[in-house]
Amino acid sequence: MVVPHPFGCQLGLVMFLSQFPFCGFFLSSQKECLVEEFYSNDGVNGNWSLFWRRTLFQWELDLLGSLKELLEPVRLSSVEDFWRWLPNTDGTFSINSSYNYLVKELRYSEGLDFEAAEVFKQLWESPTPSKVIAFSWQLLYDRFPSRSNLIYRGILAPDAPRDCVGCVGVVESSNHIFFHCSNTFFLVWNAIFRWIGVVVVIPPNSSVLFEVIRGAAKSNKDRQGFLMIWHATLWTIWKTRNNIFSNGSIDSTVMVDEIKVLSWRWSLATTKMSPCLFYDWTWDPGDCLSR
Ligand SMILES: [Zn+2]
Repeated sequence: MVVPHPFGCQLGLVMFLSQFPFCGFFLSSQKECLVEEFYSNDGVNGNWSLFWRRTLFQWELDLLGSLKELLEPVRLSSVEDFWRWLPNTDGTFSINSSYNYLVKELRYSEGLDFEAAEVFKQLWESPTPSKVIAFSWQLLYDRFPSRSNLIYRGILAPDAPRDCVGCVGVVESSNHIFFHCSNTFFLVWNAIFRWIGVVVVIPPNSSVLFEVIRGAAKSNKDRQGFLMIWHATLWTIWKTRNNIFSNGSIDSTVMVDEIKVLSWRWSLATTKMSPCLFYDWTWDPGDCLSR
């Protein structure tokens, strides 16, 4: 038991220091003590010996009662402490267990329905660079810096301009940027659908589109490739939107060409398909993916 002080401890998700700031650490006369100097165990019950710099007020005694209730089930041993990563059953840290833990937490806190939760599970099944998938992940949660989000989170002032940077008189929300802005981005999606040979009516949001494109694929290879193109399209739209701030312009033809180049490069780098020429890729990506 070498934890510096019980108020530096955490029980489950409760950090004692933040839950009991006044009747805890600040009034303690044992700030330098170790937990083992507070705690004794007679083999059946654990006892905490806490001392204070002054007599506690009634409200502080009430808080202290709550603290003792929390500590009641705690049974400490004299075995040396060690770090343990709770999201993994064997106690070791891994990126995979961290990701699954966060997904579960977000799903719980956001109240995701079954369909949305399935999209998040399948999102990473694509040979797309992880930074791009991470961006799509943020977008699906609507946690990316659109103007409406920046104002909502207090990063921009409430009276800051919230109009879309690509058109006039429309609030810049995620659905607007990626699906409805000035028909330009709408044109991009339509060109991409024609290119991959999928007939789609623009859906209300990116997660529905994800499922539609996924469902339109004829094979697993197609599916992975189409989702890669879905990621490339979102990524290119966002980059084009940001370039407007450095005197860039929106040209749907240029954007579609960029999406084809990006997805072709990613397909060569990360998919198991046989290498194909850029000409073949622009002509029929489905044929390249099935090789
Ligand atoms: Zn717009």
